[in-house]
Amino acid sequence: MIVPLPRFRVLQPTSVEAAVAACTANPGARYLAGGTDLIVNLRRGLGASGSLIDLSGVGDLDVLRCVAEGARIGAGVRIARLAAEPGIGRLYPALRAAALTVAAPGHRNLATVGGNLCLDTRCIYYNQSAWWRESNNFCLKAGGTTCHVAPEGERCHAAFSGDIAPALLAIGAEVEIAGPAGRRLSALAHLYRDDGRAHLTLAAGELVTAVVLPPGPMRCAYAKVRVRGAFDFPLAGVALALDLADGRLSGLRVALTGTNSRPLLVEGTAALVGREVGEALSVELDKIVQKQVRPMRTTLTQSNYRRIVAGALAARLLVSLAA
Ligand SMILES: Cc1cc2nc3c(=O)[nH]c(=O)nc-3n(C[C@H](O)[C@H](O)[C@H](O)COP(=O)(O)OP(=O)(O)OC[C@H]3O[C@@H](n4cnc5c(N)ncnc54)[C@H](O)[C@@H]3O)c2cc1C
Ligand code: SF4
Repeated sequence: MIVPLPRFRVLQPTSVEAAVAACTANPGARYLAGGTDLIVNLRRGLGASGSLIDLSGVGDLDVLRCVAEGARIGAGVRIARLAAEPGIGRLYPALRAAALTVAAPGHRNLATVGGNLCLDTRCIYYNQSAWWRESNNFCLKAGGTTCHVAPEGERCHAAFSGDIAPALLAIGAEVEIAGPAGRRLSALAHLYRDDGRAHLTLAAGELVTAVVLPPGPMRCAYAKVRVRGAFDFPLAGVALALDLADGRLSGLRVALTGTNSRPLLVEGTAALVGREVGEALSVELDKIVQKQVRPMRTTLTQSNYRRIVAGALAARLLVSLAA
């Protein structure tokens, strides 16, 4: 069944300040970047909006600077451009690997870093046409009163499934946010909360303008498991960054996507610092990850499989990066 897009107004600011002002002046307005997720959702009647603030004319968001001292990646940088930037591949291989797994080449030519970080959460009961959801009595996240995944609870468990965020979390990135009160810099982890209905901590009118990365020379990688190898959202995706000194861990950060309502920075990895990387350590990391991830029945693939895969991916990345 062909469903037309709802009617909306498109505003085209050319500066960050004008974008914030347009969003503040039009309650319910949404920022539009590449549109590869937002437009699909609007067609499905998800997150209806009277006004879209098109960010493609905001030149400020297009900066991509990557040197040994660190990197600044504008929110409007297209994912294909990010993946093709030689400095990113050399200094932040996890970020390049994650970018190359986002959707398909056609999407990556349009899709932006900001849109990927602010991607809506996903669930098999949510990413459906309006008539499908209506025949199911909708659900807590949009239009209904019950969560079909966990009917006894009162929260939505839809999963954050963007590929770029875990890579940036593992690398230790910060995010720059602009809003009615000006600009601020914050640890990327603070952009998210574990609530499938409201997983972003952005206040009204705020937008992500850039991510700022610390110096790159560290070993890092990203791997994900998906149903279709050609292109698909992650069932579980893991980014891992580590430093070694004399064959022992001197730093370790692990972050995940696809398993929780926010990208998850794994806790407790500092306790592994000083240890030699080998079978025993990888088994331990596997357990730590499995304990912290919370996959729910938001995909057709079983939750327990996604939990096991998350731990296994982390353990494998640890061993291969240290080798
Ligand atoms: C078939 C298909 C497969 C896909 N596979 C994957 C995949 O494997 N991995 C993956 O990560 N994604 C996947 N996607 C989702 C999507 O293509 C990407 O996440 C993309 O990076 C989204 O970026 P965008 O610029 O198109 O965002 P948009 O669709 O324009 O926006 C997404 C959301 O972010 C908000 N937003 C955009 N920019 C900003 C900003 N600067 N500040 C604040 N909010 C902002 C929008 O309001 C919207 O809510 C897939 C999509 C499709 C259709
Ligand atoms: S987790 Fe529950 S409330 Fe959230 S989208 Fe899925 S069915 Fe809806």
